[in-house]
Amino acid sequence: MKILLNNSILIESLRPFNDLGFVPTMGGIHKGHLSLINKSNKICKKTIVSIFLNPKQFNNKKDLMSYPRNIKKDLQILKKSKKVDFVYLPKFEDIYEDNKKSKIKINKKDKILCAKYRKGHFEGVLDVMNRLTKIINPQKIFMGEKDFQQLYLVKNLLKKKYKTKIIPCKTIRDKNKIALSSRNILLSSINHTLAGKIYNELINIKKRIYRKKNISKFLKNQKKQLEINFKVKIDYLEFRNIKNFKLSKKNKNSRLFIAYYINNVRLIDNL
Ligand code: AMP
Repeated sequence: MKILLNNSILIESLRPFNDLGFVPTMGGIHKGHLSLINKSNKICKKTIVSIFLNPKQFNNKKDLMSYPRNIKKDLQILKKSKKVDFVYLPKFEDIYEDNKKSKIKINKKDKILCAKYRKGHFEGVLDVMNRLTKIINPQKIFMGEKDFQQLYLVKNLLKKKYKTKIIPCKTIRDKNKIALSSRNILLSSINHTLAGKIYNELINIKKRIYRKKNISKFLKNQKKQLEINFKVKIDYLEFRNIKNFKLSKKNKNSRLFIAYYINNVRLIDNL
């Protein structure tokens, strides 16, 4: 596993390879990331993982400050997996060296879910994914369905500009069924259990959606109930079509999307 500390080493090291799988991360490596890496390792000849905590996608300073970081531990996990050929650890200047302001905008119709509640977040994500793709030039990028809206927006942006293919990977959960996330270690064990209970409630809600005539009204009530019963703050609880992200009335191609806060830790999920 070769560690690439700047762009010139990266360009030199990647030059011989034309079947490269890329797994972008912000660190706090967990089994969700490893599932993406495993998939890349199976499909592609070489796998590169980036660890870059992109400050431009954090709309909340406190969230950025508290974001788990432990490069040493991350590198140990990646090395132990034996599935990673390159780890790219760029500095801020490596990514933003041209200092140009991004022109990437989110369409009005896409300003829903996290794009509505985390202002500027996806502009930052799309900008960094555009830059990483340009620098690394991978054949495939592996991304998790846990961040479904991110996957959708990145795919739509990159398909216009690059030949790189985005490969979606399913959400990996822990024994409480919570979607693995780097932020989960910020949860106390009580709140961890609580998040598991919320997941079970979401499964129940999803089962009942199909019998409801007015889904929006039903979900509005369920959102209120969850907030009261579990003392959490919910940004959104919405049932949407996963092809176009419109509000959905049908079972087919649709998922229940949620973002909520337990004690200032923001969690998202879709099922
Ligand atoms: P992050 O480090 O949180 O930016 O995530 C890096 C990549 O890993 C993104 O494509 C995420 O969607 C993906 N990912 C994060 N958590 C999970 C999970 N529990 N299951 C599958 N993929 C995940």
